[in-house]
Amino acid sequence: MFTIDKPLPSPTEDTEGYWDATREGKLVVSTCASCAHRFLPPAKICPKCLSSEVSFQPVSGRGRVFSWIVVHRPQHPAFLEDAPYNVVIVELDEGPRMHGRLVPETDLSAVSVGLPVEVTYQKINDQITLPMFKAATGT
Ligand SMILES: [Zn+2]
Repeated sequence: MFTIDKPLPSPTEDTEGYWDATREGKLVVSTCASCAHRFLPPAKICPKCLSSEVSFQPVSGRGRVFSWIVVHRPQHPAFLEDAPYNVVIVELDEGPRMHGRLVPETDLSAVSVGLPVEVTYQKINDQITLPMFKAATGT
């Protein structure tokens, strides 16, 4: 059967530390030493105060679904066999929001705004491990 590879992130100078962390099963966000702003996507300059004193700092990986959609018609053919699937925006407990998928991806009835979630990881290859989310188990 002919299959199309899914596009993967290409780590850059700005994002390399983020992908290094996910590969080790840790979630990090860019954190500004000047104004304490935490943000994603990763960048070397703080978007709030323009300081370059930015480093990756670990976060809990816990948050809540801020918004979500169901993709019925993927924009890339490699995702056709996954449809329908969810895409969520999670607001981390530490503030930054990030896109992801809530697993299991096909259990669409499990997704709702405000749902407590926690990060989980899907190793794609030796370089890329994608952060995903699952319903939080309490505590
Ligand atoms: Zn700042």
